[in-house]
Amino acid sequence: MRVLRANHLGMCFGVRDAIEMAREAASREPLTILGELVHNETVLDELRARGIRLCREIDDVDTSSVMITAHGASERRLAAVRARGLRVLDATCPLVRAAHRAVARLAREGFHPVIVGTRDHVEVRGLTEDLADFDVVLSEEDVSRLASRRRFGILAQTTQPLDRVHDLAACVRRRFPDSEVRVVDTVCAPTKLRQRAAAELAGRCDVTIVIGGAHSNNTRELAATCRRHCARVVHVQGAGDLQAEWFDDVRVAGITAGTSTPESVIDGVQARLKDLVKGRVAA
Ligand code: SF4
Repeated sequence: MRVLRANHLGMCFGVRDAIEMAREAASREPLTILGELVHNETVLDELRARGIRLCREIDDVDTSSVMITAHGASERRLAAVRARGLRVLDATCPLVRAAHRAVARLAREGFHPVIVGTRDHVEVRGLTEDLADFDVVLSEEDVSRLASRRRFGILAQTTQPLDRVHDLAACVRRRFPDSEVRVVDTVCAPTKLRQRAAAELAGRCDVTIVIGGAHSNNTRELAATCRRHCARVVHVQGAGDLQAEWFDDVRVAGITAGTSTPESVIDGVQARLKDLVKGRVAA
């Protein structure tokens, strides 16, 4: 069995920089991270081991410094953190910041913001909490529920597949032919590279392994992309999830990974795959 890795996979610079910022800050002072810094238990365990606290609600923070994750936060949420007298370390990814600027500009210029994304995702909450009016869509059915507006401004959660953004924008245009529809591409470059590389890889493999946290939106999207090109796709969180029988009749296995998956976890999966192959030869 040959094992191939996608040309672009794994942790993006935004997540890597945020983790580095957390480690560095925690070496100086007690730190709480507000929300999940990465959807990856291996990384979260390592941060906990350094004494970093993780919590979801501002009211639960009991350190004087708090970190906003790469997913970003609304001005409203930041104000609530500051109102408690907490010092804010802001690890918002610059590409999420660009999406915040884009949505604010659309709203300022009179476009009704429509965000292509997952409604309850922390990044989408950050993008929308300061808006007076907006919609979040993920499917054509969601578009069918939109009310008519003179101007629609469409943008995306940074980890959405670009095809979906264009498809849903086309759907809005068809449904409201008299409205002005402006699309701002806020899908981040690392997501585009990983999506493209995953599609290319999956097309060459008998089975494609997608590595990432069970709650990682971008990992699930990567898996969905792979399923369009490969009949067998498995989503695992690490080497321990691999099962030998998945590879019984496999000639080529591919590996890709979401933007919060560390290199060490990817290497672990690859090493385990090699062991499985060796075991099969020995048997
Ligand atoms: S997925 Fe994209 S937007 Fe999100 S942290 Fe990584 S680089 Fe930034």
